[in-house]
Amino acid sequence: MSITEIRVPEMGDFKDVAVIEVHIKPGDDVALDQTLIVLESDKASIDVPSPLSGRIASVELAIGQRVSKGALIAAVEAAAGGGEAKPAAIHEAPAAAAKPIVAGTPSPAAGAAPDCDVLVIGGGPGGYSAAFRAADLGQRVILVERDATLGGVCLNVGCIPSKALLHVAAVKEEAERLGDHGVVFDTPTVDLDKLRSFKAGVVTKLTDGLKVMARLRKVEVVRGTATFANANALDIALYDGASRRIVFAKAIVAAGSMPVRLPFLPDDPRIVDSTGALELPFIPERMLVIGGGIIGLEMATVYSALGACVDLVEQLDRLLPDVDRDVVETWRKRNAHRFDALLVGARVDSVVAEKDELVVTTSGEGAGVRRYDLILQAAGRRPAVEALQLNAAGVTFDAKGFIEVDAQMRTRNQNIFAVGDVTGNPMLAHKAVHQGHVAAEAATGLKSFMDAKVVPSVAYTDPEIAWVGMTEDAAKAEGRAVEVGKFPWAASGRGIANGADYGLTKLVFDKETHRIIGGAIVGPAAGDMIGEICLAIEMGADAVDIGKTIHPHPTLGETIGMAAEVAEGVCTDLPPVRKK
Ligand code: FAD
Repeated sequence: MSITEIRVPEMGDFKDVAVIEVHIKPGDDVALDQTLIVLESDKASIDVPSPLSGRIASVELAIGQRVSKGALIAAVEAAAGGGEAKPAAIHEAPAAAAKPIVAGTPSPAAGAAPDCDVLVIGGGPGGYSAAFRAADLGQRVILVERDATLGGVCLNVGCIPSKALLHVAAVKEEAERLGDHGVVFDTPTVDLDKLRSFKAGVVTKLTDGLKVMARLRKVEVVRGTATFANANALDIALYDGASRRIVFAKAIVAAGSMPVRLPFLPDDPRIVDSTGALELPFIPERMLVIGGGIIGLEMATVYSALGACVDLVEQLDRLLPDVDRDVVETWRKRNAHRFDALLVGARVDSVVAEKDELVVTTSGEGAGVRRYDLILQAAGRRPAVEALQLNAAGVTFDAKGFIEVDAQMRTRNQNIFAVGDVTGNPMLAHKAVHQGHVAAEAATGLKSFMDAKVVPSVAYTDPEIAWVGMTEDAAKAEGRAVEVGKFPWAASGRGIANGADYGLTKLVFDKETHRIIGGAIVGPAAGDMIGEICLAIEMGADAVDIGKTIHPHPTLGETIGMAAEVAEGVCTDLPPVRKK
């Protein structure tokens, strides 16, 4: 048998187009004219058929790659009588046309009939969004969740309960600050039981809502722990002790993440992760937070507002390394009162659990021995993939243990998709939701891709910090010339009226194009305002677009327009810029 190379044929005007589907893998038998790959330009999608019949020896391109005429697609062993390769013809379809994806792995139709079109593992933001979108597209959907409620980490032990507590903390501290504005309240007392039940009520309202939404969409929710039996079936250890095998046509893995446990920490109920801290076991007199990321800073805010003396240890040389330094510095100054010791560039070396206290030895900045009643370890999260036995399904992982996916959230097994925290950083609910929609649509045959330019992040601390896109430092490190517009809230009428004159809005623009490439805000409601900067980046807005957009007065959102005016040198709300 001879090996024939198949290349991308003449495509008229099309050059540098994206590979959006690969329908072959080594060992597949292909027939003459069978579609090998699908390309997509901005005008049309293009099926590239096989010019001969034979067996695929190797596949030389992957989804997401961009190709032009002549690019090598695959090597094929021509079948006996498969004939000479004929010149490949291409078939165009309108770009928007939905086209079912042909699986690259054995279809369940070849064996047992599938029990559902789309099986989703995990009922968190990634999973329920994928399940609901697939159901809305007419698919028969089963959602497997091992916990009693839907909502995953985010609704049950993450975003939502932490925000319920942070809201209470912010109101309490704001009330205390009102003394400076002439209104004095009695010193507040905290009823922990009531606070816990307020938090639980918020969670229940949302998780119950998900249950109803699943029912309305006829999504079958199966409670149990899922393990892959093979590439087309899952075994579920049901919560009542029974088991069930589910054969699927397509599966979406949305199993989320779990906290990293630092190996040197003793097993002691006074050492908790974020889930334990959100239970509010008690208000400690002295608390240590290990980790200066979003979760560490948020929980430090809650506990210090409730009355704990909090120390924080971060091993990097700064807090929130993905955020502009000046923005973090503004936050740090404003939070100086919150920490007895805020140690960056420091490490916890050992913790000894004694009867009445936890004795902690640290090295680096502020090295020493300190004593605490409660320790929160918030040193990162890792993908929750062990139980799934994804190797049995041909799914692969990157070096950090996250599931490898392409732009359609498809794993190496063409029938299996993965979304949310299992696919890597940033581990955020809104990213999981978007990926869930893409996976559901791709599993249904739509040409959807995860092509968002940016994913915003928010620390819902007091004040909030929100950021998106590139920092000034990161852009410069890449060798980009940048223009920066900073608007201090000391010049914002609303900032001053709200007692938030310390806030700052910063925008980063590419100097050549004037297009916005990043932004960060520190101040109350920063998280509610960052969406405008995200939209500006997605739309390719420049400083004039943002500055000339009329923002309502007096609002904190105005500071975004004014920061753009600063970058353009046309801001009249700050002193005149001295001409050089
Ligand atoms: P998850 O929400 O983790 O859901 C995964 C689900 O899969 C779980 O319910 C789990 O029980 C289930 N599961 C796992 N394995 C199996 C199995 N084998 N069989 C059956 N079921 C299984 N993000 C934000 O965007 N904003 C925030 O403000 C925010 N705050 C946070 C605060 C805290 C304290 C924490 C811990 C996280 C926070 N996050 C926040 C992150 C956010 O919670 C996650 O990014 C998000 O929940 C990820 O969604 P997911 O669908 O990937 O996974």
